[in-house]
Amino acid sequence: MSYQTLPKVELHLHLEGAAPPTFIAGLAQEKNIDISGIFDEKGGYAYLDFDHFLKVYEAACTTLQTPDDFRRLTLAVLEESASNGVVYSEAFLSPDFCGGGDLDAWRDYLAAIADAAVEAERTMGITLRGIVTGIRHFGPEKCNVAARCAAETMGDFITGYGMAGNEMVGRPGDYAYSFDMAREAGLRLTCHAGEWGGAAMVSETIRDLRVERIGHGIGGVSDPALVEEIAEKGIVLEVCPGSNVVLNAVEGWGSHPIARLRDAGVPVTVSTDDPPFFHTTMTQEYEMLDQTFGWGENDFAALNAAALKAAFCDEDTRANVAKRLELTND
Ligand SMILES: [Zn+2]
Repeated sequence: MSYQTLPKVELHLHLEGAAPPTFIAGLAQEKNIDISGIFDEKGGYAYLDFDHFLKVYEAACTTLQTPDDFRRLTLAVLEESASNGVVYSEAFLSPDFCGGGDLDAWRDYLAAIADAAVEAERTMGITLRGIVTGIRHFGPEKCNVAARCAAETMGDFITGYGMAGNEMVGRPGDYAYSFDMAREAGLRLTCHAGEWGGAAMVSETIRDLRVERIGHGIGGVSDPALVEEIAEKGIVLEVCPGSNVVLNAVEGWGSHPIARLRDAGVPVTVSTDDPPFFHTTMTQEYEMLDQTFGWGENDFAALNAAALKAAFCDEDTRANVAKRLELTND
């Protein structure tokens, strides 16, 4: 069956990484930027492995130069999400890609993104919240700058702080200052860990960065004591199975640990990460979970309830989205 119209909550989506390739190619043409090398013959993104993926991603980002580019990007991304039944989404936003970390510039970009979010809520019935994101391989200093941007612009729209990028650069503790700053400002916290780094990286991230959610976290599965700790503390995993399969973080759908983690009591959620890069959509993720593990509507209802509970939003928004999940289910 198709799960396209089933209402969904998505917690782990990189705004630039969700950019439809046709949108990026169009911007490149408008601005006379030659990035033809990042596309394959079908017009999709082309890359060889995770490191190359990061390079292609950054090349695509060079076309995003103004707040208005980000306004258009946000609308294009939300249109795609809404067409896959997503009613609530959280996107990672990087001050590094929006004004290079300058706070005034960041405010301008953010205003444009938030404007687009308001328009999308009105016209497409999808709610967006932003998680400001430090890029790990840019180093701790840059992450401090991103966290400061987050702290200064926290509000109805910016509700969280997180860290993405190459997980194998440095240790979580090196980035503790940025997370402390964000926590003190009142932001909710998540961090990519255990996509590549294994159980120790997940464990250090929980200990040193004191996050309530982990991006991916699947590497934790190799340590039963850690799985128990995650379940006990109720730390939510933002699992992105299609992303893991395409980047070879796991051998294939059949060996993906999401079902084992869920059965061990870990609160798991499902997201697409950078959907056009991984040739996926929320609909396809659900279809693959159905095909691989036999998950059905009850499982997905539980999945969405867990995601909504873990969403970085205020209680009014949560209640509103809950209604949208139920109403459309009838
Ligand atoms: Zn991610």
